[in-house]
Amino acid sequence: MKIAVIGTGYVGLVTGTCFAETGNTVLCIDVDQEKLNKLKAGIITIYEPGLELIFSRNIKEKRLLFSDSLKEAVDFAEIIFLALPTPPMEDGSADLQYVLNVAKEIAGYMKSYKVIVNKSTVPVGTADKVTEIIKSITNVPFDVASNPEFLREGSAVEDFMKPERVVVGTSSEKVKELMDILYAPYLRSGNPLIYMDVRSSELTKYASNAFLATKISFMNEMAQLCEIVGGNIDLIRKGMGTDSRIGNRFLFPGVGYGGSCFPKDVKALIHTSHEHGYNFKILEAVEKVNTIQKSHIVKKIVKYFGDLKQKQLALWGLAFKPNTDDIREAPSLVIINELLSLGAKIVAFDPVAIESYKKYYPHLPIQYTDNQYDALINSDALVIVTEWNEFRTPDYSLIKSSLKNPVIFDGRNILDTHILKKYGFYYESIGKPTIKPQ
Ligand code: NAD
Repeated sequence: MKIAVIGTGYVGLVTGTCFAETGNTVLCIDVDQEKLNKLKAGIITIYEPGLELIFSRNIKEKRLLFSDSLKEAVDFAEIIFLALPTPPMEDGSADLQYVLNVAKEIAGYMKSYKVIVNKSTVPVGTADKVTEIIKSITNVPFDVASNPEFLREGSAVEDFMKPERVVVGTSSEKVKELMDILYAPYLRSGNPLIYMDVRSSELTKYASNAFLATKISFMNEMAQLCEIVGGNIDLIRKGMGTDSRIGNRFLFPGVGYGGSCFPKDVKALIHTSHEHGYNFKILEAVEKVNTIQKSHIVKKIVKYFGDLKQKQLALWGLAFKPNTDDIREAPSLVIINELLSLGAKIVAFDPVAIESYKKYYPHLPIQYTDNQYDALINSDALVIVTEWNEFRTPDYSLIKSSLKNPVIFDGRNILDTHILKKYGFYYESIGKPTIKPQ
């Protein structure tokens, strides 16, 4: 099949590459010339495990192509996927300008039947808006479908190649026929392609992300209560998670959720509800809890040290989660800004996100190191913000000998309490008893 993907960011590049991997020819479009120059030269623009290998292979096989011309995309493909940004506006609503403008432009170039499939996360009713825009410009037949993307950064290739489900919102038999063929290679193990009406499909994506955010905020509140009344959230999590009605995933408390999806999607669903006269009470609380949670670890540090003006803190982890260089809405940013405003000096390490920080926050007076242990030298404490694998079983003896004080604030509950006790660390985590040197 000939496919076009409009927007070559985290979703678009993974989508385009993975569609090419099963034999389709894919033309990826973007407006960012710097990005396009790199992609055309075979240089990958995002960090995503497993992507580089299939990206290079499909470029070599000429199944993965890049261009800045939307007209070329419309001429080239019958199926046009939109993977465009839908960032939050001031009022929390999703900014639809990219999706609607591209739809208008596509309509102007259409000469034969096209399916416009929206992968961006968009508020309910967007497919209807796109349909109206295109209808007002052309008489050429077309369908607009919704195909929300559920990939997770950090495991995006695996998620795309082996999705637990694919959701498509459409009432068109022709679209169903095309989607059946296109997605068949990814669903061979029997996972479903679920068809539904477009409105339900658009809402499914928000419902999923909002529910996951709710799970996180619930556990963060449970952890707060543990700290007050005495309890260990790790044990409670295990006790809860073994109940199959609850499940054991997404029950980890931490420094709050971040990233380019949960915060904006929770906000957008609250906004959509308000627009239609409904108060989504649970989600308002989910958001409030998350805001509080991001500052929680800073409060712990201040409580321990008092004045932070002469303190240097080693920070492990900048990305909003492991295995990505994405720092959009990363809790690290809130934590760093609060610590800096209190006068602390920050020395940070992240396996891949340092470049993103340097690019987007060049003004922040952060010192970066090339490895996790160098950040500890002359630091008064270690603060763990992202649960990268390499932070999970660290050299405890080296941590102790490198730090000025054997003090750790673990925002992800990843360190081993038995070993920490053995080495005589002071260790505060989230929702668990503090370990104090004997
Ligand atoms: P992104 O910012 O990484 O990528 C968007 C790309 O679109 C950028 O490269 C940008 O230059 C390009 N673009 C902007 N205007 C354009 C135009 N007029 N024509 C062509 N290209 C244009 O965003 P993303 O993270 O890939 O997210 C895209 C959508 O997918 C969003 O709605 C997001 O909510 C949703 N989504 C994201 C994820 C994720 O994990 N990142 C997961 C599921 C869904």
